[in-house]
Amino acid sequence: MHTDLPSPEDPEEPPSRGRLASLKEFHSAGRGFWGNIPDADWHDWRWQLRHRITTLEQLQRLMPTLTPEEFAGTQLANHRLALAITPYFFNLIDPADENCPIRWQVIPRVEETHTASWEMSDPCGEDSHSPVPGLVHRYPDRVLFLVTDRCAAYCRYCTRSRLVSNATGYDFHPDFAGQIEYIRQHSEVRDVLLSGGDPLLFNDERLEHLLSQLRAIPHVEFLRIGTRIPIFLPQRITPQLCDMLRKYHPLFISIHSNHPRELTTEVRDALARLADAGIPLGNQSVLLRNVNDDPVVMKAHLQKLLLCRVKPYYLYQCDLISGSAHLRSSVRKGLEIMEKLRGHTTGYAVPQYVIDAPDGGGKVPINPDYILSRNADRVVIRNYEGKVFEYPEGPDGTPMTAPPVEIEEALV
Ligand SMILES: *Cc1c(COP(=O)(O)O)cnc(C)c1O
Ligand code: SF4
Repeated sequence: MHTDLPSPEDPEEPPSRGRLASLKEFHSAGRGFWGNIPDADWHDWRWQLRHRITTLEQLQRLMPTLTPEEFAGTQLANHRLALAITPYFFNLIDPADENCPIRWQVIPRVEETHTASWEMSDPCGEDSHSPVPGLVHRYPDRVLFLVTDRCAAYCRYCTRSRLVSNATGYDFHPDFAGQIEYIRQHSEVRDVLLSGGDPLLFNDERLEHLLSQLRAIPHVEFLRIGTRIPIFLPQRITPQLCDMLRKYHPLFISIHSNHPRELTTEVRDALARLADAGIPLGNQSVLLRNVNDDPVVMKAHLQKLLLCRVKPYYLYQCDLISGSAHLRSSVRKGLEIMEKLRGHTTGYAVPQYVIDAPDGGGKVPINPDYILSRNADRVVIRNYEGKVFEYPEGPDGTPMTAPPVEIEEALV
């Protein structure tokens, strides 16, 4: 029964400590090829957007070390998912390393054209749970509100690749008036999650217009924004944006970061501005092969998020998105990583590992087994070190109480 238990001490732990510490160091993304650009331009988010890398020619010029897989993938990029990389984020790529974890997330590869029968263009069944265009209502008390199909840069494994950047001709047209009216008429919706695409690509005025309309609905208690902009384009997190957002509390933001190298000094400062505006920050990561499916990398990333005042929220098993097999890791690997987190580091650093069930089943929590058995009078559990414990409990789940004691006896 105990053969699968983890060994109490990880023999790799001591040598990996140095690696863990170095992964947690903060560095600036630097200027790279853009050394001559005036500071005002470099720090201007609109300049960064205008100068994104979007073509094979630009990529080849900046990165002569493009592999044949990347070359072929980039040639085909716009058939599946647009190519865009901000100059800031491009500087995080190590052109000398074919396995650079940043590179695999944003540079197309020919494997994106390899699709299997179990892969899907809408792996979470969002379209079938959409009462009005741009709104997904799958859970009882909350809705997903899609704002735009554009992102600052495009992730190669995106769950909404059918939609983002319109590369596949999906023709995404949100209907803000219809989306807001639906929420108004559904008083059970107490939580609205703005996502996309990336809502923070909107300018402050358009975003505020949306937030103020949602805030005006009495039963909407809690607003959230899901965004990868703090990672791809930290320049967008201006003091003006933060001053606007803080008017709409309670407002939470979930960022999307996958690897410690994404957490630069620029990102740390942008996240500090959001946190100082009173916005609770969470992070969603996707478990990606050769990017973060390694316990040391994952732990460094999660601990580094805490240094940026971000609570790791979800770790997603990569959805069965068409052409993503080369980036997907296994559930077995995910569980092995979770096993090395819980108890080994603070619970604040431990995200909930989930599989977004295919065809619209929603997020299903996936945990290592800590309950070994349940008997008529106890639950048998084990801790992170593999030590076994018992917790008494009645057969129908009632708490175990001590047998009654005679009063005189108790007084003696
Ligand atoms: C993830 C998701 C939500 C939010 O779920 P939480 O567990 O509350 O973060 C809401 N709607 C849809 C469709 C989602 O995929
Ligand atoms: S930022 Fe989010 S929505 Fe945009 S491409 Fe990446 S995963 Fe998809």
